[in-house]
Amino acid sequence: MGQPVRRFTLGDAEALDIADDLAPLRSLFELPDGVIYLDGNSLGALPRSVKARVADVVERQWGQDLIRSWNTHDWIDLPSRVGNRIAGLIGAPEGTVTVADSTSINLFKALSMALYLRPDRRVIVSEAGNFPTDVYIAQGLADLLGQGHVLRLVEPGQLASAITRDVAVVLLTEVNYRSGARHDMRALTTYAHEMGALTVWDLAHSAGAVPVDLTAARADYAVGCGYKFLNGGPGAPSFIYVAPEHHHGLRQPLNGWLGHDAPFAFETDYRPALGIEAMRVGTPPILSMAALDAALDVFDGVSIARLKAKADMLFDVFVTEVEAQVPGLELVSPRDPVWRGSQVSFRFPEAYAVVQAMISRGVIGDFRGPDIMRFGLAPAYLRYADVWRAASVLAQIMRRSEWDRPEFKARAKVV
Ligand SMILES: *Cc1c(COP(=O)(O)O)cnc(C)c1O
Repeated sequence: MGQPVRRFTLGDAEALDIADDLAPLRSLFELPDGVIYLDGNSLGALPRSVKARVADVVERQWGQDLIRSWNTHDWIDLPSRVGNRIAGLIGAPEGTVTVADSTSINLFKALSMALYLRPDRRVIVSEAGNFPTDVYIAQGLADLLGQGHVLRLVEPGQLASAITRDVAVVLLTEVNYRSGARHDMRALTTYAHEMGALTVWDLAHSAGAVPVDLTAARADYAVGCGYKFLNGGPGAPSFIYVAPEHHHGLRQPLNGWLGHDAPFAFETDYRPALGIEAMRVGTPPILSMAALDAALDVFDGVSIARLKAKADMLFDVFVTEVEAQVPGLELVSPRDPVWRGSQVSFRFPEAYAVVQAMISRGVIGDFRGPDIMRFGLAPAYLRYADVWRAASVLAQIMRRSEWDRPEFKARAKVV
């Protein structure tokens, strides 16, 4: 047994908040009173800058300047401008990231591009516990191609042996949505390349949460969400990265007019734009994209490494308290912060009811079936005292079986 873990008091947590150089970031967010929000990994909180920006885009740009805004407010290049800001958060050079569509659709593009480059190979490797949309998109693409592509789904520990010389592409989510476990992106990419395969990395739970260096990892393609740790709002557009070495002759199968080299020439035949612009398909959702752009102000001058360090300390305060008060509750997330994203998950058969009981007391986490309670640790707006209190609420609910009531077991459509 290790040494007994030192517990934190509420006073300790409050002292950590006073000493926290990231504490001022909280005031950049609009947060309801009486709520401790541990679901920023699913829908990030509302940055105040978004409200003013969306109001301006609606009232002045759309309302007054109308269609002229495509030029006068440069709506047309907003996807690349926002892409470049996200590039700075994921270790990607300028001109390698754009914002378009949803993560699911960007996965389709990225996988297709990888398969174009490996025409003699028929295997897509992924992880059995990957997020469903990643798996579904790969299955759909394999069916569409009708060339006998197969999806090889394996447990994380089996990845190295699954990446054989018939593999075209390795499709992985860096931080697992259920457990928060983080892959070694660099090592797996290096190994995939040695075996002649390409990589697609899903950064849904990484962008804005953990330090990502796509260049150093030599990742081929990456995609990710705008509405999780990037706080871009419900249904915010997604981003897609293509490594510079794949820009020559770059094309993806959704030949939309805005991915054309000259969209307003209205040519008969498709000619892909040069570079990352070829990832665009149709007209960008300007309201959502402006919201995402404004949301990224939160990250100006803030290091992701520093944010992750705070998330790790939030984890320690939360987990120490939960484990001290509810011995035996199974921690699913890795204890080693290097191999973890910004979340903490526990396993419990009645996880759904526990999460509902917590929500009824103002602590919002979420449930992932069949038995995971998941708590996102968004360090930009969470205080140490918040996670300390959340741990106490969880512990009380568990000790007194407060979750064991019918109203906490009725499943809503969205969980
Ligand atoms: C949230 C999430 C998505 C979401 O995809 P959408 O198309 O934006 O709904 C995709 N992949 C992973 C790993 C996710 O966690």
